[in-house]
This record gives sequence, C-alpha cells and structure tokens, in this order.
Amino acid sequence: MNSYDVTVIGSGPGGYVAAIRCSQLGLKTALIEKYNSLGGTCLNVGCIPSKSLLDSSHHYEEAIKNFNSHGIEISGKIKVNLEKMISRKQSVVDQTTKGINFLMDKNKIDVFNGLGSFEDATHIKITSDKYKIIQSKNTIIATGSKPSSLPFALVDKDRIITSTEALSLKEIPKHMIVIGGGVIGIELGQVYKRLGSEVSIIEYADRITPIMDSSISRELTKVMKKQGIKFYLSHSVTKVDRIKNKVFVKALDINKSEIIFEGDYCLVSVGRKPYTDGLNIEAAGVNINDKGQIIVNNKLQANNSNIFAIGDVIKGPMLAHKAEEEGVMVAEIIASQKPHIDYNLIPNVIYTWPEASSVGKTEESLKSEGVNYKIGQFPMRALGRARASMDTDGFVKILADSESDEVLGVHMVGPRVADLIAEAVTAMEFRASAEDISRMSHSHPTYAEAVKEAALAATDNRPLHI
Ligand code: FAD
Repeated sequence: MNSYDVTVIGSGPGGYVAAIRCSQLGLKTALIEKYNSLGGTCLNVGCIPSKSLLDSSHHYEEAIKNFNSHGIEISGKIKVNLEKMISRKQSVVDQTTKGINFLMDKNKIDVFNGLGSFEDATHIKITSDKYKIIQSKNTIIATGSKPSSLPFALVDKDRIITSTEALSLKEIPKHMIVIGGGVIGIELGQVYKRLGSEVSIIEYADRITPIMDSSISRELTKVMKKQGIKFYLSHSVTKVDRIKNKVFVKALDINKSEIIFEGDYCLVSVGRKPYTDGLNIEAAGVNINDKGQIIVNNKLQANNSNIFAIGDVIKGPMLAHKAEEEGVMVAEIIASQKPHIDYNLIPNVIYTWPEASSVGKTEESLKSEGVNYKIGQFPMRALGRARASMDTDGFVKILADSESDEVLGVHMVGPRVADLIAEAVTAMEFRASAEDISRMSHSHPTYAEAVKEAALAATDNRPLHI
C-alpha cells in the first residue's frame, strides 16, 4: 500500500497549490482527481474559460463599436465565428490544465485519477475502473463546489443551463435570460450581449453584486444598461419552463405582479454549493454544516485534526485565490509553520468591461460597525490614459479611517482595475494611510494615477487633476 505524508483530494486551485507547497516543504504528497483534466472548476469551467470568452467578445465589441473612432476602417462585415471562439477558449483551457500536469511532475507529486473517498481517517480509496487504497498521515479536502439550482428550474443543460454549458454554446442565443445578478451572471451575460444576444438579468436583491460596495453595483448597472443589458432587480423568479426551443421564466416584481420572460436560453447562475458527494466523509468523522460546508477551525482543521479542508468546500468567498492561500496555509501548518491569512484582504474582482474590484471594508460594513470614515473618490474620465483608450467609465474610491487615515477599503470600477487592486492589497497589508499612497509616485499616464488621486482626495480632499 502506498503511503503519504499528505493526500490532497481535488485538483482545483486550492488542491493543486496545496500539493505543490506540501512538496516544496519536503512532504511526500499525493493528489487525487476524479476528472481526467486537472485544475478543477477554475481552470476547466470557471475563471480561465470565462476570461477567455470575455476577452474574445471584448475584442469583437471594440472592433464593431470603437475601431472607427480610432481611425481604423474595416471594409466588409465583422462577424463572430462562435465555434472558433469556443475552440480558442478550449485550447487556452487545455494549455493551462496541461501546465498543472507539468507542475505535478516537477514537484514529484503522485497524481491518481479516480474518485477519492475515505475508508477511515487515514485511508483513502481511489476508484476508477479498479480501486486502490492509499494510506495518508494527513488529508486535505479540496473538492470545491457545483452550481446551485432552483427547485422550480430544472437544468436540462441544453436550454436551461448553468455557467458550465454557457461556456460552450453552439449558437449565439437570441434572448438569454439570466437568473442571478452575481459575478458569474453578469460576466457571462456581458459576453453574450456583446456577441449580439438580447440579455435580461433577473436579480432577487435590489442591486446586482449585492456583496460588493453599493457604489460598484450602481456604476456597473449604469454602464451595462448603456451597453444594452436589461436588469430586473427586486424580482423573484417563481418558475422556469421549457417548451421546445423556448424558455419561459415567470417572476414576481416588487409589487408582486407576475411578469413572464420568453427567451431561447435561461442561464441559472444563483451561486454555487459546496461539493462533498462520494467522499464518504462520515467514515473520517468529518462534519458539515447546514450549508453543506465542511466545518473547520481557524487552522482549517476538520474535527479530526489530521484532516483539513480548503477552498469552496468551506466557509468564505468562493474565489480561486482564496482557495490558493488556504492551500498554502494548510501545507505550512502540516509542516509545523505558523502561517496566517487576513480574510479582509482577499480581493473581489469582476471581469466585465469596465472591470470592478474591491478589497477591505465596504461603506455598508463600516456604517454597520460604527466606524468613522472618510471617502476619497476619483473618476476615470479625468485621466489622460483613460481618454486615450476611450475607457472613461468608472472610478477609484478609497475609504480611510477619519482619525488615523488608515486605508480601510478600496473599491474600483474601470479599465484593468482587476490588476490595479493589487496596489490596494499591498498598501493595506502594510497598513498604509491614504497619505502614504498619495505620496507614492505613480507613472504617467496610467490608470493607476486614479489610485493616487483618490488617496489625495481621501487624505485631505486635495486631488490634483479634478
Ligand atoms: P474546485 O476548483 O471546484 O476543484 C475541486 C476539484 O475537486 C474538482 O476538480 C473536482 O472534480 C474534484 N473532486 C471533487 N470531489 C472529488 C473526489 N471525491 N475525488 C476526487 N476529486 C474530486 N474565482 C476567481 O477567483 N476568479 C474568477 O475569475 C472566477 N471566475 C469564475 C467563473 C465561473 C464561470 C465559475 C463557475 C467560477 C469562477 N470562480 C472564479 C470561482 C473559482 O472557480 C472557485 O472559487 C475555485 O475553483 C475553487 O477552487 P477549489 O480548489 O476549492 O475547488
């Protein structure tokens, strides 16, 4: 029987990163994945393919809407070849997942293909065509999540679909009805709007992306409405039916009046749920809560101290980089180190165009915690760089403590703010004040200048360029 210091179940960004870090720390490590392709949701049907389609559709939109203003004239009709776009996406996925195989080999990690399930707290059965059992001193559960469903919307994976199918459609929908105005719904909604679909987003809350600062929800709604997406906020969907190639979505508006939407595709993007099916966690004495999440302590240990859980299968935001940080942390704990994660500093990003990003406290949370804060905000349209690229929507908003000037939260909408948020994370990691950021030189002309200007506005209301 093979025996290991650590076995990781699940090869998503949590699992494969945990395995690499374990191996770097000299631990004999195995990784079990039930699918043939490594990389989990993120690489196969999540972050990477969605960003690939967002990029392709963005190029198309630029070509039809903005090339002319840049003085680029194209004769003939610019057309989308969806099959080619989807196959490019797949080749990006394939290259990226193959990269994980390379990393496993490089780090001498034994990869097993098959379903991992507990025999007991130190023995794991791997089932594929045959089965084998391995022994492990420690196990890291990184089995991720699956799309949530609605009891009255039977996903048939053909017309009533989840994000997984939306990443591989064979035709451009005429009217895509999106249930759920969270990150996945608005990203994929924007992809198909750019490609020519009519897109209606139905959201139960009174704003999209309800967990982010409300200024982000407002700005994104405004910009996406300009792009032609229709929003139905404070609407609760009650039924989804398919008749031949049509879908009918019934919803109640805020006055409880019924509205019926008719489309050819319905994307159900109402969140994701932790995935533990087939793991036989009872045999290892591991408990889950009523949300299906594995219960862990602050060292991410389940009730059995040699079993850990990370990523989407436990509490916290369902984000690839959160799963990665937890993978590293658990590996280091197993190697008797003392790592730490500051969950307040895990950034949140939306890859629409303009992008949106956020780190730290929102205004809503500061208000509810009774913290006195000041706001520095700077619009993208006041930047030379944004005018040059014709990306003038959005802003950077910095929230700083009224007395100490410490930066407490940073919220952005605009071009490349998914990358810009790293500056805010760095600053907050070192507990910078708004004035610290405002005194750092930011290259000109860049979108990053909006961060400096917002910091100047927060410090002492003294932005230079507005
Ligand atoms: P997963 O990536 O879900 O991996 C779990 C793995 O475990 C899977 O491969 C599964 O097959 C395997 N597994 C499960 N059970 C077993 C078993 N018993 N035996 C063996 N293997 C098993 N996050 C971001 O940060 N940025 C983004 O831009 C982003 N975009 C997204 C877009 C979409 C459309 C979706 C759906 C998600 C997106 N996410 C994004 C979320 C991100 O994909 C997840 O947060 C991340 O993948 C979680 O990583 P994980 O390692 O916990 O689990």
